[in-house]
Amino acid sequence: MYASVAIDLALDRLFSYAVPEPLAARIAVGQLVRVPFRNRPARGFVLALQEAPPQGVPPEKIRPVEAIEDAAPFFSAAMLKLVRWMAGYTATPVEAALRAAVPAAVLKKGARPRELLFVSPVAGKKAPPEDGLTPKRRQLLADVRRVGGGWLQALSAEFSAAPYLFKALAKAGFVEIAPRERRRDPLAGREVIPTSPLPLNPGQAAALGTIRAERRPVLLFGVTGSGKTEVYLQAIAEVLAAGRGAIVMVPEIALTPQTVRRFAGRFGGRVAVLHSALSDGERYDEWQRIRRGEARVVVGPRSAVFAPVADLGLIVVDEEHDPSYKQDEMPRYNARDTAVMRAAIEGASVVLGSATPSLESWANAQSGKYALARMPRRVNGNPMPPVTLVDMNEEIRRAGFPSIFSSRLLEAVSRRLDAGEQTILFLNRRGFSRSLQCPACGHVEKCEACDMPYTYHKADDCLRCHVCGGWRRTPAKCPECGSEHLRRAGAGTQRAEAALRACFRHARILRMDADSVSRGRSHDDILSEFRAGRADILIGTQMIAKGLDFPNVTLVGVLNADISLHMPDPRAAERTFQLLAQVAGRAGRADLPGEVYVQTFSPDAAPVAAVAAGCDYESFAAGELAARREAGFPPFVRMAAVTVRSEDRAKAEAWARLYSGSMAAFAAKTPRAAMAVSEAVPSALAKADGFHRFQILLRAPRNADIVAAWKWISSVRPAPPDVRMSIDIDAQNLM
Ligand code: ADP
Ligand code: ZN
Ligand code: ZN
Repeated sequence: MYASVAIDLALDRLFSYAVPEPLAARIAVGQLVRVPFRNRPARGFVLALQEAPPQGVPPEKIRPVEAIEDAAPFFSAAMLKLVRWMAGYTATPVEAALRAAVPAAVLKKGARPRELLFVSPVAGKKAPPEDGLTPKRRQLLADVRRVGGGWLQALSAEFSAAPYLFKALAKAGFVEIAPRERRRDPLAGREVIPTSPLPLNPGQAAALGTIRAERRPVLLFGVTGSGKTEVYLQAIAEVLAAGRGAIVMVPEIALTPQTVRRFAGRFGGRVAVLHSALSDGERYDEWQRIRRGEARVVVGPRSAVFAPVADLGLIVVDEEHDPSYKQDEMPRYNARDTAVMRAAIEGASVVLGSATPSLESWANAQSGKYALARMPRRVNGNPMPPVTLVDMNEEIRRAGFPSIFSSRLLEAVSRRLDAGEQTILFLNRRGFSRSLQCPACGHVEKCEACDMPYTYHKADDCLRCHVCGGWRRTPAKCPECGSEHLRRAGAGTQRAEAALRACFRHARILRMDADSVSRGRSHDDILSEFRAGRADILIGTQMIAKGLDFPNVTLVGVLNADISLHMPDPRAAERTFQLLAQVAGRAGRADLPGEVYVQTFSPDAAPVAAVAAGCDYESFAAGELAARREAGFPPFVRMAAVTVRSEDRAKAEAWARLYSGSMAAFAAKTPRAAMAVSEAVPSALAKADGFHRFQILLRAPRNADIVAAWKWISSVRPAPPDVRMSIDIDAQNLM
């Protein structure tokens, strides 16, 4: 027998080994094995077994498999199929894809279950006579017998007896002490209150019926608070009742104790949680519980799509539009799309839930590739809060100078302070990758050819288009209004906080952004402080926009909707709509009615106007899809970004040019594969970690054509070791 093995080195090929007789009876596809590689041992996964020797290799050259590292396979046949698909789709070596599908904590050498000492009393008849025991030891033995034994450490604390006393009892034959496996439980010590299924409202019942009946993926389009989670819970319960398992994916930032409690409250010990805050030991144990079938419901972020759930019945992808489902390092897979593929391979149902679906999923629902279930109303019947647009052009005309806060928003904040209600202020500002907006008139310079905002490159003070590669010098004055403030555009959360403090000296203000979170206080700390009412105003970046529920918040203000609107990214309008709708969903969730103010220089821009019209997603999506089709952007084409990095700027640029030119020529020679290739441009993030970065954007009707061009260029012109090339298929983020 012969095995094809993917060795844990990024070689993107399989190696053949002979399976010696004693192993032949035990070896299985998906196992981790030890094999000789060059002159040292290596580990790898068995991807296939066959009787015939591999062709073209002299039999004496085939070396034997040395050992099976773990009898239980890491991958089922279905999972291997999924991972190999993912590797091919994202142009990732198969070993790297396999490695990404199993937590490092599980594959780490020496990772094993935790074993602790367990004390069990020896049955009465077998125990020796107690005559020789001191009264103290006799009492301890009675205690141990009464509780029926337990962990040495716990008993020692409970009965205030040092461990040597137990060991003495063991030596005398009264108890046995032996190591026993003890689970590292991420939910240990958390209070989980069991819940029962709620009677569904008609919208929920219809959605559940669709999920039950459909063989296609189901897009569950339901507004914030429409009760999507209850639908997921009941769909999972049905799957469990049929003896099958389920995976629930949520964006990492929404994977709060609150979320976990909702699933654990319904399914108790059958739930496993996988998220980045787990210790290696917890992650190892949770993964093994899933593989052994003890846990049948897995809740986790994007990597949960690879959880080894056997007989999978359902995958739920909550907030399916969230960009965090796309991994931004190799393998650059999109977990939502991977979930759809896994469900197809395993014959499972898949539900994609969102109040603001990605246009990819929406287009699929429109074309009938996905089924659509709608839940347009909140469970509690509260309407969505009214959204007021504040036109900053008018505001500045009135005030005579640019400012961060409009007088209307300040008045609204002031009313909340008087009423003892809370306010959330939202300012999305990334440190790089941004367009230049005139703070006096809101004007943004765009590339005429692509109608895409230029990205401002501070290093060489120029504006570049990332779609076609064109560039121009940064104008000294705003071409629209002549203001000279152009280059100091943009206020960050810190400046906004300072300005706010100057206006409201007595207000209690909390700030949450990447800086405030990394300085000792966690995301959860800041939010609990706010929820507990120990602050009046929370100001922050998009971190505060996700699935959070603050009953006392009645005002949400968006300081500058234009920042995301004018991102140099084809998905800027979509992201703006999603952000604004999500932010608006924060106001007035409980009994108090809420209000939303959105400051913008572009009140007529489609996503802004749609949110103001009551979050009319469907008409926004129709308009945006038409614009994407016109411009040749996803979902009508596949888009990939190639990044070229080197410590030597000239080298990075030369290689980027070479790749761009060669791929354009390749595409021109293959008329069936119409591919648009941009010129090489410095990335928006032009330098990081000492590496200069250049980018090439590829667009083609079919992903396979992009992958083919990439494989071709990488093999005919492999880059030297000091130049690194990578490709991001279905790129979500042009940096
Ligand atoms: P979504 O996930 O769509 O934002 P949730 O599932 O969080 O909505 O539901 C919002 C609130 O409504 C929650 O507090 C939930 O417990 C409650 N809820 C959901 N479904 C029902 C129902 N059928 N009857 C009563 N309350 C419900
Ligand atoms: Zn201007
Ligand atoms: Zn352009």
